[in-house]
Amino acid sequence: MTGGAQLVLSEGEALKQQELKVSNLRSSRKLAVVLDLDHTLIHTTGIDSPPQNTEDLEKHVVHYVTIDERVKIQDKQVFVKKHFLVKKRPFLDQFLNDNAELFQFSIYTAGTRLYAEAIAKLIDPTGKLFGGRIVSRSDVANDTKMGLEKSLHRIFLGDASMALIVDDREDVWQGEQGEQLILVRPFSHFKGAVEVNNAAGPGVEMSGGGERLIALVEEQLQQGAITDMDDQLLRVAQVLRDLHGSFYADTSTSPLAGPRHTASLLKGRKDAILRGCVVTFSGLIPVNEPDPAEKCLLWRLALSLGAQVSYELSDRTTHLVTSQSTTRKVEGCHSNMPNTWIVHPDWLMYCRWALTKAPEKTFMMFPGQEGEPLPEPTLDTSPLEPKLLEIPAAVQRANEQALRDAYEANGGADLDDDLRPLAKRPRVGPQTTGDDSGGGSDKSDDEDVYGDFDI
Ligand SMILES: [Mg+2]
Repeated sequence: MTGGAQLVLSEGEALKQQELKVSNLRSSRKLAVVLDLDHTLIHTTGIDSPPQNTEDLEKHVVHYVTIDERVKIQDKQVFVKKHFLVKKRPFLDQFLNDNAELFQFSIYTAGTRLYAEAIAKLIDPTGKLFGGRIVSRSDVANDTKMGLEKSLHRIFLGDASMALIVDDREDVWQGEQGEQLILVRPFSHFKGAVEVNNAAGPGVEMSGGGERLIALVEEQLQQGAITDMDDQLLRVAQVLRDLHGSFYADTSTSPLAGPRHTASLLKGRKDAILRGCVVTFSGLIPVNEPDPAEKCLLWRLALSLGAQVSYELSDRTTHLVTSQSTTRKVEGCHSNMPNTWIVHPDWLMYCRWALTKAPEKTFMMFPGQEGEPLPEPTLDTSPLEPKLLEIPAAVQRANEQALRDAYEANGGADLDDDLRPLAKRPRVGPQTTGDDSGGGSDKSDDEDVYGDFDI
C-alpha cells in the first residue's frame, strides 16, 4: 500500500513482512491506528472551478485542493481537473502530531488514490506521519463496492491485534474487525453541500444524525457561547492513549495473561460506560422482530456499552429512551418515576461517540423547571429478573392480532403458516399494539427516521 506501486509477494514472503511489521511496532511500543478521511478527519466538498476569493478561504481556514483525475470519456482516457474545498476537523493537527510517538497512523479511504494522496499532503505535508501508508478505493482490485467494504486484512494480513480503527461509519467494517472500531460523530462543515466519496453511514441515520446535538452546537455558536464544540478528536486521542497504556502495561506480575488484543481492550472500555444502567425503550424497537437485541441498532448499542435492557419499565429502569412524549411508558414514567431519566436516543449515540457516559441533562425529553431536582437512579449490575427480558405476552398477542387484521384486509392467507416463522413475517405498516397505544397515532418525524416501532 505504499505509493500505489504494485509489488507482488508470495504468501510466505507477505507473512514474513507482516511479522516484521508487528515486531517493529512492538519494539517501538506503538499501536497501529487506521484512520478514515471523509467526515472523520476532514469534510470535503466538490466545486466546479477554483475559488475566486482566497482571502475568504483563509479567513475560514478552508483549504483548496485540486487533482487531475483520469477518467474514460468515449473510450478515451482523459485527465479532468477536480476541485475541492477541505475543512480539517478541529484539533486534527494536534491529534496527529501529539500522538505520533505512540501510534503508527495509516489512511484508509473510500476515495481514490489521487484524492487520498492530495489530502495526505494537506494534513501531513512532510509525510512523516503517514509515511505512504494509504489504502484507497483505487488499490482494491475489481472493487464494486466503491471502497465501502473495508478490511484490516488488507493492511495487517493475519495479525491485526495491534490495530485500532477510527471511522464515522461502522457498516463498512463488517465482522469481528468492527470490535476494533472507535466510531466518531460524522464531522460536517459545509452544510447541505455535495458529498464526495461517502455520505454518513446508516448508524448515523438511525440516530437521527445527531440533529439535536448539531442544533445545540449551532445555537451556541450563534450566541457566541463557544467557538467550536467539536472535541471529538481530543476524546479519541484520550481513548487511544488509555488503550495504548493498557496494551503495554507491565504483565510480569501476571504470568497467566495471554497476548493482548486491541479488540478486547476496547470492549472492556465500552462495557464500563453504562455499567449498572437498565435501559427501557419506548416507541423505538421494531414490533416484528423476534430478537431486538440482534436486529435493532439502539438495543445492541445499549448492550455494547454495558447496560442491561428490559422490555418493560420496572423499578430497575434507570433510563427510558424514547423520541416521543405521549406513549404509555413515557407518561407512566414521567408521572411516577422521578428517579428515571427520560432521554432522547441521541444520548446513546453520544455515549458511543464520546466513549463515556454522556450527561443525560443535555438529552432530557422533559427538561423541567430551573432548580427542579434531577433524577438520581441507583446503578445496579445484578442481572435482571428473566421476566423483564421477555417480550410481554400482551405485546405478542397484540402483534398477532395486528397480523391477522392485515391478512384479513388482504383477502386472507394461510395464517397459521405465516405466523409460525416469526422472523419471516412481513411488516404490515403502522400498528398499535396496545402497549404504546398513546404513541400509535401520533407519528413524529423521528419515527420516520427510526422506522416503525411499537415496543
Ligand atoms: Mg467517512
